[in-house]
Amino acid sequence: MALGIGCGFENPPFYFSNFMKYVFCTDLYIISPWNEAKPQMFSDPGKLAPCKWNPRRMGVQVMDGTNISFEDNTFDVVFSYSSIEHFGSKDAAAKTMQEIERVLKPGGVLSLTTEVLLSGDIYEKEYRERHPHRMWARNTLHDHKRDGCDIQISLDELTAIAEKSTHCPYCGVRMLYCPKNSPVWNSPTLDRRDNENVIRADNIDIICLDCNKAKVNWTKEEFVSFCRDIVEAYDEEHRWITAHE
Ligand SMILES: [Zn+2]
Repeated sequence: MALGIGCGFENPPFYFSNFMKYVFCTDLYIISPWNEAKPQMFSDPGKLAPCKWNPRRMGVQVMDGTNISFEDNTFDVVFSYSSIEHFGSKDAAAKTMQEIERVLKPGGVLSLTTEVLLSGDIYEKEYRERHPHRMWARNTLHDHKRDGCDIQISLDELTAIAEKSTHCPYCGVRMLYCPKNSPVWNSPTLDRRDNENVIRADNIDIICLDCNKAKVNWTKEEFVSFCRDIVEAYDEEHRWITAHE
């Protein structure tokens, strides 16, 4: 049996549910200001699952790590990633460590880290370079699923659309599917054309990050009209200046 402290909707508990008898995910869900602790973990955790998982072996509970509501010597494994540094104070972190020691069986395993990011397996980099559109589509679908979108497009379909979407339809810049580091200004992004919550092949565009930042929550029509107004105002100003020179 395993206990996750402050585990929000992180990937590890989903993965562990394939191998462990039971995994308890705990966090300040609902009452936390942290975006990581999504309440959707209660209503529909499958929507947040990044991989194959076993719903019969994973449960979610609201719990404060400084006051764990389990008996002593209950768990074989306790894990907590990118969380303990957010507990508010050294005292709170120390209290949490005492609680972990209390609920962990003698000889049990504690796996604890402060902020950490893992980049998948060692072949991911090579795979990303060989299949940039597929990797982009996979990550994009994962992010949108996590954010609560209703995904009605397959990975294959989105990959095919990405392969055709070489340039941003708004500004015409050539998009870079495989930046060396995190996304850059001309990285491709999935835009829900009219901000519907569902993602289908016929209601999305792949546009550059800069245009997506400018479009925010506008519909395609509103954004195009906004851009047109800017161009027209610029032209008018330019004509006026030229006429008065
Ligand atoms: Zn653009």
